[in-house]
Amino acid sequence: MNIIKLYRADAALEPIEPTQPDLFGVAADAERFAIDVPTEVTLALGTGAPVFIGVSGGRDSQALAYRVCAHLDDIEHPGPRFLVHADLGRVEWKDSLPVCERLAQRLGIELMVVRRTAGDMMDRWLSRWSGNVARYTKLECVKLILPWSTAAQRFCTAELKSQVIAREMRRRFPVGDVVSAVGIRREESPKRARMPAWKQDERTTRKRGLGHTWNPILGWRRGDVNDYVRSRGDELHEAYRLYGSTRVSCAFCVLGSEHDLRASSNCSDNHAIYREMVALEAASTFSFQSHRWLGDVAPDLLDAGLRARLQEAKERAQLRVSAESRLPDHLLFVKGWPTVMPTPCEAALIADVRRDVAAAVGLQVNHTDRESVLQRYRDLMATAAAKAGAQASPSETPEGIPT
Ligand code: SF4
Repeated sequence: MNIIKLYRADAALEPIEPTQPDLFGVAADAERFAIDVPTEVTLALGTGAPVFIGVSGGRDSQALAYRVCAHLDDIEHPGPRFLVHADLGRVEWKDSLPVCERLAQRLGIELMVVRRTAGDMMDRWLSRWSGNVARYTKLECVKLILPWSTAAQRFCTAELKSQVIAREMRRRFPVGDVVSAVGIRREESPKRARMPAWKQDERTTRKRGLGHTWNPILGWRRGDVNDYVRSRGDELHEAYRLYGSTRVSCAFCVLGSEHDLRASSNCSDNHAIYREMVALEAASTFSFQSHRWLGDVAPDLLDAGLRARLQEAKERAQLRVSAESRLPDHLLFVKGWPTVMPTPCEAALIADVRRDVAAAVGLQVNHTDRESVLQRYRDLMATAAAKAGAQASPSETPEGIPT
């Protein structure tokens, strides 16, 4: 029997003391490998709710899969269980899917592999860039918007992973409770440190069935994860073993450390996507991370032409930023933009900035003189007023993208 921390409704934070040894017969290990099982999860599992264990190929998800399956065996969970992997396409490490397949084989359960139908992660960044250029061209946004996801705008995780997985879970089980087990850990970040072991998942909650997000290994340390995977006789992803990466996610992640970006660039399987991403940096003049150009991580992998374009992009980025810095705060994006009509003087300034940005980035844009800018703002404000009259304005992201 596995040792679990059972949370009772009347003493939500009081773990019940373990009474039996763990898989390996070592009390200390039993404590280390305890998992959080909140009451809501216990109740859902008791009714046989299907369990979907998210696996990326990274070590946390490996440990999660082994440990959750052991728990389900212990409680004789009567429902189905699956591994689910969101494949992000060419930005994935080549070893990620094989690690997930091996896990599924060893555990004897189905591996569901889901993908965004409209294209992979790189396609999303590329299409976002063309969409943002089109919006800037038509003066639908006041500043040119970057192609990449950011910590504040993690549409990559939401659109490529969470939403795709949630859709497949509900396609398979339209009614009844469903449980999504996730391998996040508190020590990974301050944000994760504040995560609960359970929360209701709005994406999979339906009138006839709750969606549960279950974070069973929140309290595990990295050493616990490594040891647990090893104790199950499995080996870690090549990103750790061969390249010294500290995390496995996209081969090049918008939140990745310099160390991990470099580690990834050392794997020849990642060279093609590396070059493709650097080419987007060069074309857009936006660095992959706010203070780091991906092209600087492994410039030896770039040919002379791309290296030169990247260098030029850095200079053009400075011109773009400098031009946009001339816009006064009250003209910048706020919810409901545009909320004020620019004065003729301000319209001339906006037109001037747009010409400079277009020249810096190499774009052909509309509304580059005072009269055209004023007319565009009149139209935008009239449309917004008409919409507001008919219904509430659509919500927008901080970048002004309608959601
Ligand atoms: S690994 Fe990084 S880039 Fe990839 S989806 Fe997650 S946050 Fe986005």
